[in-house]
Amino acid sequence: MQFWRSRSNGRRSGAGTWKVVLAAILAIATIVGAALGLRSSGGERAVGYTEIAQIAATGAASEVRVDGERVDVTRASGERLTTVVSDAESRHELVQRFVASGVSVTFASAEGGPLGVAARVLIPLIALGALGATLLLRRKKSAAAGAFATSSAAGRVRFADVAGMDEAKDALTETVEFLQNPATFGRLGGRPPRGVLLTGEPGTGKTLLARAVATEAGVPFLSASGSSFQEMFVGVGASRVRTLFADARRAAPCIVFIDEIDTVGRARGRGGDSASGDHDQTLNQLLVEMDGFDHTTGIVVMASTNRPDVLDPAIVRPGRFDRHVVVPLPDLRGRMEILAVHARPIEMEGVDLAHVARGTPGFSGAELANLLNEAAILAAREGALAVQVTHVERARDRVMMGAERRGMVIDPEERHATAVHEAGHVAVGVAAEHTDPVHKVSIAPRGRALGVTHSLPERDRHLYRREYLLDQICMMLGGRAAEIEILGTMTAGAADDLERAAALGRRMVAELGMSDLGPICVKDPSARSQALLDRVEEVTRRLLEEQLGRARRIVDERRAEIESLVRALLERDTLDAAEIRACFPGDAAKKARWSARPALTQGS
Ligand code: ADP
Ligand code: ZN
Repeated sequence: MQFWRSRSNGRRSGAGTWKVVLAAILAIATIVGAALGLRSSGGERAVGYTEIAQIAATGAASEVRVDGERVDVTRASGERLTTVVSDAESRHELVQRFVASGVSVTFASAEGGPLGVAARVLIPLIALGALGATLLLRRKKSAAAGAFATSSAAGRVRFADVAGMDEAKDALTETVEFLQNPATFGRLGGRPPRGVLLTGEPGTGKTLLARAVATEAGVPFLSASGSSFQEMFVGVGASRVRTLFADARRAAPCIVFIDEIDTVGRARGRGGDSASGDHDQTLNQLLVEMDGFDHTTGIVVMASTNRPDVLDPAIVRPGRFDRHVVVPLPDLRGRMEILAVHARPIEMEGVDLAHVARGTPGFSGAELANLLNEAAILAAREGALAVQVTHVERARDRVMMGAERRGMVIDPEERHATAVHEAGHVAVGVAAEHTDPVHKVSIAPRGRALGVTHSLPERDRHLYRREYLLDQICMMLGGRAAEIEILGTMTAGAADDLERAAALGRRMVAELGMSDLGPICVKDPSARSQALLDRVEEVTRRLLEEQLGRARRIVDERRAEIESLVRALLERDTLDAAEIRACFPGDAAKKARWSARPALTQGS
């Protein structure tokens, strides 16, 4: 029961006994499996997720069997394919696709029949016995080998596979050099790296980058998610940290990667309940471990977060995570390079990646990869021979707004409320001067959302102006404004909007110095006091209230326009930019004049 995934890059092989025990377990399992008439695992072709997803989309399978993380697919031709989908949500989605196209799906369990009961009892017993034996043997064995499975060459990521991010890669070459030769590193006068904090939005490639560092240096990569240290039982988190580092010492030189470090590294000492006490213990243990090794230990801890602001100041003190590498959202060139990497295995026809890159400002690397994957799925579903521009465009909408959940039945009253809520966002989007053009609005349920309004920046923005950010908040609150003004009530559908608006507002006040509190920066831990934090909250609340007031006025002045938009939405579910403009003729004309103005005259 390992809670972290470990991967060695082929430097060390497992201990002899370990291999023998493994072989023994395999042999026993095979014999028992065959004797009980369970499916043998021979004859399947191992394929990637994409191939299975494409089959799922076209429904060209006769049978699907899900066994834990493994998905086995029998094609209509009788060919058997297998893949491992470790992400539960992706697996779920895959299964849903198969079900939707009428393929029979079974989940593995000990099968019925006369031998079923025996199988159910015997197999766990044998497994338990084998596990016990292994543990005993491992105890006796010296600590030299560790539990690192030797991974195949496939799946190794090098710097060349990480597109863009030249600066981040530059910043990490020193870490690579250190890991290649920890003992002599200090002699050249360099200060050896110990902790590297990667900060950036989700999906920007932080994990990918950390893996690439391990491959480039040729060292094992041990990873754990910050959230895996949070447990129901007090003390478990701390003991897991100890185990992780004990393994790391054995594997050194190596990289320990902690994803979502903010879940362990939140500032200590808030609240006196046992959960937060446990959290403090986990964090303390991490700090103790990091203080306990010097450069000869040869361990580099890399951690990623998108909330560096909430980290305990102790974490970023010298000698701990004192190297910071920012992993930004890709710019136009970066997007093009990422698209090029992920387009390699895909057959395309007439798709200009530069054009796609221009149309996807604000997309993360993960979203770009996902976009091409979705496009390939759409193309396969239609039986097209290659991915064409229309597939890419539809995939972009899907990635931006989430896939539609067809077949979900919505109560007409809820549908109306959703239409009004979205119409509120749209109204502010077209009426406010500094918002990006509204690109699409939909009340077809997607993912968790009942509706979405999407605006698309016309260009990459590098410097956000105060007016733009205020308009963003106003637009986020437009949904709630319409609920109040038009429905005369409030719905829970605005929860996400409120959260995002509050986060942006707080940032403007606390970090960007855009309020009457003046040029403060709460990110700086030494400047943080409870009194200041309280004032930040108060000023943020006022800012949100002002923008909600503004949104309500905008909505109130456009009742007729909103009514026509709501009618169109109820009729057609999804409206594009032209259809939206048609509902707001006055505002659309004004907006066109604004955006025709040369950018330089907009003041500074
Ligand atoms: P993070 O750890 O920042 O959340 P990941 O490293 O898990 O992001 O990235 C998720 C996926 O997105 C990667 O597996 C890869 O397919 C894609 N990706 C993200 N950034 C890049 C990049 N710069 N180059 C190539 N692929 C990328
Ligand atoms: Zn909303």
